[in-house]
Amino acid sequence: MQYIRTVTAKKALFSFDFKRYRGYICPAMTYLTVPIAAGDVRQAKKQIDAAVKARAEMLELRLDYIDKLTHEKAVKLIEYVKKTSLPVIATCRDKLEGGCGNYPVELRTNVLTTALDAGADFIDFEYQNFLSKSLSSRIEKALNRNPKSRLILSSHHFSGPFDNIKRDYNFIRTLYPKAIPKLVYLAEHINDCFDAFDLLCETTGDRIVLCMGRAGLISRIIAKKLGSFVTFASLDSETSTASGQLAIEQFNDLYRYNSIDTDMKLFGIIGSPVEHSASPAIHNAGFAKADLNKLYLPLLVDGQKEQFNKFMDNVTSRNWLNFKGFSVTIPHKINAINYVLEKGGKVDRLTKKIGAANTITIDDDGHLTAYNSDCSGAMKAITDKIENLNDKKTAVMGAGGVARAVVAGLTDTDAIVTIYNRTLLKAEKLADEFKCKAAGLDKIPQIDADIIINCTSIGMSPKIDKSPITKELIKKNMVVFDTVYNPRQTLLLKNAKSAGAMTIEGLDMFIAQAETQFDLFTGQKADTSLMRKTAEANL
Ligand code: NAP
Repeated sequence: MQYIRTVTAKKALFSFDFKRYRGYICPAMTYLTVPIAAGDVRQAKKQIDAAVKARAEMLELRLDYIDKLTHEKAVKLIEYVKKTSLPVIATCRDKLEGGCGNYPVELRTNVLTTALDAGADFIDFEYQNFLSKSLSSRIEKALNRNPKSRLILSSHHFSGPFDNIKRDYNFIRTLYPKAIPKLVYLAEHINDCFDAFDLLCETTGDRIVLCMGRAGLISRIIAKKLGSFVTFASLDSETSTASGQLAIEQFNDLYRYNSIDTDMKLFGIIGSPVEHSASPAIHNAGFAKADLNKLYLPLLVDGQKEQFNKFMDNVTSRNWLNFKGFSVTIPHKINAINYVLEKGGKVDRLTKKIGAANTITIDDDGHLTAYNSDCSGAMKAITDKIENLNDKKTAVMGAGGVARAVVAGLTDTDAIVTIYNRTLLKAEKLADEFKCKAAGLDKIPQIDADIIINCTSIGMSPKIDKSPITKELIKKNMVVFDTVYNPRQTLLLKNAKSAGAMTIEGLDMFIAQAETQFDLFTGQKADTSLMRKTAEANL
């Protein structure tokens, strides 16, 4: 109930035009805050100008980064930020909690009280240091002199999650009730993020709860949905002050920071790695174009079945997070279908036959459905170019997840399929299941095919000078389809083109499978030309 009340209050505030309120501290909003982390005042001013231009909503002056820090330098910078009308947090972080310089606590405390007198809206001080009476009384006096300014009492855990984050949160709240508690920890796995989400869900008022590290990325993006007082964005990778910090440009352009609200439905791509996936770009562009209150996230789920199942359990047991669908990639496609089957969800005949799913949806009653849009995507890419597959001799190279989807689709037609794979046993097993032929890669020189389909990762970036077959084997009357889409023009496709063969790009399959997912996620038709343009720009 508490959560719902905050949500409603926040919704009302979100509808305000923030710009009208520049220079004022709006309670109950999530400030997109850029840390200014420079070695000298001149560089810091440059970063401040860049952050304003990049649409920061608040700045954090990381005074611990300033070389030979003095009170005068701190005042100069506060005064410079005040001219921008953006609210400012002054921080002079303890080395033990991730600070840059190794300034003594006395100097750091004095610099922060000076910053308050110079007009800092907030100062961030480690709560461990605030336990010292002599330090806390100095800070309290400065806060009393500047009653509009506020104290952020922080704690940073670099070794993993807090033992008991709720206890630490309550401790800070009791220690200085007017403070904004800030609890930040390293998420070693995405499953570590749920402590942070629960704390935000169960508490009200201003508080900052975030996870660091690659696995903590989503906590920074959905901080606004969950009502953290700030989320931090870097200007670029060089000025990032914590691992996993996202650039402000990505917050604004890729994740539509301005549109994020508490009701937003969440989607994402589950996999490992996911950083280079084009899916967040294309789905978010589609959601934006259709003006849908939906957000698509990269969900780095390291590990195997156990970690995947735990992630799904975490998500499905918290319907307030509003996750409604997932794309699934390596290594979790088999885990995805098994999870849905174990939970009594729906799986269609072809997906069952393939034995792997690349899409999961969650309906409003929490029911799960698994699909395989790789199969339909691949078949659309093929049949857009080849009308009739009857009796077409088709060589599929690879016996992994994509090969399964392609072979399942092809054997549903009257194509004559042979699977070539490095590990012959895998090819034979797949061929046995789908009633076709198998061979090792050593048989490729004797290849006799109308259609060649590469379903291995050979030729994928960064090893772009590799091809699964030599140029000489490609004939003019062949159709060559490379499922690899990064790069778009693989060496295999280049060779096929120069041999005069017809080619099908992996991007065609990628767009076709994403089109199906968009339909499943939204019930609407995707704008495929926008998807293609966005994917091309991403590649
Ligand atoms: P997977 O399950 O890991 O299978 C990889 C396949 O590639 C296996 O058959 C493996 O052979 C073979 N392979 C890997 N390295 C090889 C090498 N150096 N020499 C010979 N064979 C090698 O991966 P997947 O999910 O099927 O994905 C395969 C590729 O499809 C990806 O790299 C990606 O580029 C592409 N893909 C495209 C789309 C799209 O929409 N266009 C979607 C998903 C994936 P072994 O069995 O011997 O290990």
